[in-house]
Amino acid sequence: MEIRKLILATIAGLAVMLFLSAVWHGLLMYDFYAAHSPALLSLSFMVASLTVAPPTNDQTLRREAAMAGKKALMVHGGWGGHEPKETVDVFAPLLTEAGFDVTLSDTMDSYLDKDFMQSLSLVVPCWTMGQIEGEQEKGLRQAVESGVGLGGWHGGMCDAFRNSTNYQFMTGGQFVGHPDGIKDYTVNITRADDPIVVGLSDFQMHSEQYYMHTDPGNEVLATTTFDANSAPWVNGTVMPVVWKRMWGAGKVFFSSLGHVATDFEVVEAKEIQRRGLLWAAR
Ligand SMILES: [Zn+2]
Repeated sequence: MEIRKLILATIAGLAVMLFLSAVWHGLLMYDFYAAHSPALLSLSFMVASLTVAPPTNDQTLRREAAMAGKKALMVHGGWGGHEPKETVDVFAPLLTEAGFDVTLSDTMDSYLDKDFMQSLSLVVPCWTMGQIEGEQEKGLRQAVESGVGLGGWHGGMCDAFRNSTNYQFMTGGQFVGHPDGIKDYTVNITRADDPIVVGLSDFQMHSEQYYMHTDPGNEVLATTTFDANSAPWVNGTVMPVVWKRMWGAGKVFFSSLGHVATDFEVVEAKEIQRRGLLWAAR
């Protein structure tokens, strides 16, 4: 009886030690590995995951570390009221922080360079209205179809190129109005288990409430419900705010929040966008 207890205690002790060392290794070495080798970091967390399934925040850390050395292209332009450069400047540093080599461009001719497009993990289009030329649109669309991620916000991604239905087919939605202009409204998280919105609660915005025509194939992560004085016939309509989808092999992410750069002072709006861009990157 005593020997059996001793063996059980030894096994339990070893299991606890293995667990603690794996967690310690994964957490303490994160910064070093993130700076030096994403592969080693992944290996480190794989060892940890042998003893315990990592919680979601560890998954987020692993995802960010896996971005090291990857390339993102952010293309800004179009209608100035959406502060294309200012909003891009909110997220460019966050992508850099996550390990991306970020290229900013103010011309859609960037989409024409096939080799450059193929070198990317992520494209962030921030170009309200305007017009995209046939070859530019084809270059972007084919890159995404082949696996380059696409992510963006508000009109910069989805009130863009009103004549280009191919582009709209890819993004999964198109702006059609914002009843009442700038107003207070609630964003409801509808897929609380999804990593892009996990841990976030419903929140308030004081901005444009985007009314959109959206693709029923989108995976919707957050919605808003309309209660509009200027278009009361849409009251009660539940409208997608945040979605993700696929375009070929490419992941596509969109949030309708972010009319101006200060909208991203709402921490939830900024965090959803940050996570969405990381999710979309290949
Ligand atoms: Zn706007």
